[in-house]
Amino acid sequence: MNLTNINTVRDILERHGFSFSKGLGQNFIINPDICPKIAEMGNAQAGYGVLEIGTGIGVLTAELAKRADKVCAVEIDTRLLPILEETLSDFDNIKIFNEDVMKCDLRKLISEEFQGLHTAVCANLPYYITSPVIMLLLESRLPIDSITVMVQKEAAQRLCAKVGTRDSGAITVGVNYYGTVKSLFNVSRGSFMPAPNVDSAVIRIDLHSEHRLSEEDEKFFFKVVKSGFSQRRKTAANAVSSLMGIPKEKVYSALKEVGLPETARIESLDMDQLIAFALELKGMC
Ligand code: SAM
Repeated sequence: MNLTNINTVRDILERHGFSFSKGLGQNFIINPDICPKIAEMGNAQAGYGVLEIGTGIGVLTAELAKRADKVCAVEIDTRLLPILEETLSDFDNIKIFNEDVMKCDLRKLISEEFQGLHTAVCANLPYYITSPVIMLLLESRLPIDSITVMVQKEAAQRLCAKVGTRDSGAITVGVNYYGTVKSLFNVSRGSFMPAPNVDSAVIRIDLHSEHRLSEEDEKFFFKVVKSGFSQRRKTAANAVSSLMGIPKEKVYSALKEVGLPETARIESLDMDQLIAFALELKGMC
């Protein structure tokens, strides 16, 4: 079944009485060039189990299943299940989990479903949970090799920004702490049904197998990073002190100990400075 043929897609959706949910970020890919590219650049290959987040009508799912040993896809919208039964009926290596990805036990899913396989994540992410999903995948320290996702262009720019620059955010620190991130290609809004108001881009994060910090230090580190960026116009000391409830004097001392001024802003600190500051502060708390 050609899931990038507009008439075929319209016919399936109509027969199943399906209407798009804006709230669930449902913009399905109809440009035939995109899904094979995501699959090929996203590690969908022999020896891999691929976790997909959000199937839509299965256009990317099918391309992943053609290449990888197994595909497990988490899809929240129950209305899509009968559609997927029809569109993916040719495959015997796809398993759909009708769940909210934010509540799904992904560690269990990976260990039970992808035994003996490497794991990669590939998705055209629902835009309303782009950062939370990426942070969840990273912070859970899941045994994943790579995360290849389509996101809105602005989100891609933030993800691929350099830590320590104005374009960076907490998510930039996250992806650069856990791995290396690369922008792969841009996708125009006309490639989707319905067309969104913005263009998109596909990025890939290759995850490090080792972590610089212990799990406990890492948790504290990301509390500091998230506090700093959630009030990024303030100085790092003001933001961290007010959101983490740490006396300002202590935060000033931590900054001083690692050679940073009291007026430092979180967005101007590079990865080494952020880590040094957080560890120093943790030692004082
Ligand atoms: N992969 C399909 C494609 O590219 O055409 C669909 C992508 S669409 C941008 C996002 C999909 O994620 C939708 O099918 C939507 O129902 C699903 N979704 C939205 N929120 C979700 C959540 N919290 N957990 C799992 N799936 C979700």
